[in-house]
Amino acid sequence: MVSEKPRSGKDARGGGGSDIDRFALTEVVPSPRDFIFVDAERCTGCGNCVAICPMDLWRMRGGRAELAEGYRENCMECGSCYIACEAGAVDFTYPPGGTGVSYRYA
Ligand code: SF4
Ligand code: SF4
Repeated sequence: MVSEKPRSGKDARGGGGSDIDRFALTEVVPSPRDFIFVDAERCTGCGNCVAICPMDLWRMRGGRAELAEGYRENCMECGSCYIACEAGAVDFTYPPGGTGVSYRYA
């Protein structure tokens, strides 16, 4: 049976460079609200978040980082952007209960 869901992060967000198929790894219920926030005042433009995100969900604009549109549908919730941001500009929390990714264990 063919899934009706977008089959890759690349397709689902309409651009980007990741080839990870998020929907093959997980069960996904996109969060109804934002769960990652960027403080533009704190952002130094170092690019760590862009470099580390496995789903290619970060962009630089005007020397500051921003999340790609549709990140809630494609984020793996790995927290790497939060950890990699030495400036403390990234605030990460998990999506509300019942939403986000559920990893399968074989
Ligand atoms: S939590 Fe992971 S997948 Fe989500 S935006 Fe941050 S680095 Fe990317
Ligand atoms: S890692 Fe933090 S300081 Fe560096 S570009 Fe990303 S948000 Fe800005």
